[in-house]
Amino acid sequence: MTDTDDPAEPPACRRLVGRTAVVTGAGSGIGRAAARRLASEGARVVAADVDVESGRAVAEQIGGLFVHTDVTDPGQVEALFAAAQDTYGSVDVAFNNAGVSPPEDGSILTTGLDAWSRVQEINLTSVYLCCKAVLPYMQRQGRGSIINTASFAAVLGAATSQISGTASKGGVLAMTRELGVQFAREGVRVNALCPGPVDTPLLRELFAKDPERAARRLKHIPMGRFARAEEIAAAVAFLASDDAGFVTASQFLVDGGASGAYVTPL
Ligand code: NAD
Repeated sequence: MTDTDDPAEPPACRRLVGRTAVVTGAGSGIGRAAARRLASEGARVVAADVDVESGRAVAEQIGGLFVHTDVTDPGQVEALFAAAQDTYGSVDVAFNNAGVSPPEDGSILTTGLDAWSRVQEINLTSVYLCCKAVLPYMQRQGRGSIINTASFAAVLGAATSQISGTASKGGVLAMTRELGVQFAREGVRVNALCPGPVDTPLLRELFAKDPERAARRLKHIPMGRFARAEEIAAAVAFLASDDAGFVTASQFLVDGGASGAYVTPL
């Protein structure tokens, strides 16, 4: 009998027993919800964040390991995956999720080069660094699932532009597809998670506290609401697990129907 055969635990909810999962941006929002969900499915979770307090708190809650990491720093990223390997003996899941959406990133007409570059570094270069660091472990194991957080903004245009954020997520999507194809025969799956708007601190800061700005977006979502972080975390757990064994190089949209919509319900 394996761990997943335990009659006390429904097998579908314990899909990650024996697996090690690294989550970046684990201190808040989608990352925090995913760290909790992956741990609840049996994974040993390594929570990484640049914010020590929130990252450590999440790791403590789920009995995981906290590694203080700035995902734009190549040395720190390498040390993060090395810590996962050294502590738990494998790196099976990498949820490369840390990202930002600062107010200085807006229309191309007003966004300066500094804001552009910073967002590219945190949202896109970081994913390059994390994938580059984790792939050798997964190649050696002949197994692994990489999930990179892109966005519905990678597949839909918005008149309310955040130009560097959108471009960065387009880059994450294209890079992920390519990695999924390149490593498919080595047992490593690589997928781009594309959330629609999610009710997290990042989104709240952007517009949820302004009802008019929120309403402007909500009418384009067939479901008429923002996602809960837990709904995105459920997709992460699926992509991390063997249930997604034939899913790779995908743009995995979890967007309440936004990307499929023309006229939405009133
Ligand atoms: P959030 O602000 O709630 O959490 C982001 C976390 O990343 C924070 O804990 C922050 O400290 C951490 N972080 C920021 N810079 C970092 C760095 N350099 N190194 C390490 N950690 C860093 O945001 P969220 O809404 O949970 O967003 C998570 C991801 O989802 C981001 O990539 C974001 O672009 C993407 N996303 C969010 C939405 C949304 O509506 N919230 C929609 C689509 C995509």
